[in-house]
Amino acid sequence: MKTPEICHYCGGRVILTDASEIYEKSTERIYLCTNCNAYVGVHKGTDRPMGKLANAALRMKRRETHNVFDAFWTGRRMSRKDAYRWLARELGVPQSRAHIGNMEMDECERVIRLCWEKDAKKAA
Ligand SMILES: [Zn+2]
Repeated sequence: MKTPEICHYCGGRVILTDASEIYEKSTERIYLCTNCNAYVGVHKGTDRPMGKLANAALRMKRRETHNVFDAFWTGRRMSRKDAYRWLARELGVPQSRAHIGNMEMDECERVIRLCWEKDAKKAA
């Protein structure tokens, strides 16, 4: 993942800064768009971004996706490990890519739809 310099939402300048600009008491660092406040964390001890910048709408979507997915697998008495293995298989991606925290809007939508479809089948 290469270092972000320009925000893909608004074209604003992206800087590497302290996360305390966004949430207090954090010692982590983030890449932050100086224009729209989209941001992404870095891998501990490095300058490598964990993914693409995310704006508020995407962060909210990821939270929603997490809620749906967690309810889905806990309701089926799956283990977290099995749940993510299932998700990776359904999405057709390696397990290392099946992380909701790194997903884009459309991938979040797909996960939510997958869970709904499975639950609809179970109910039928
Ligand atoms: Zn921006």
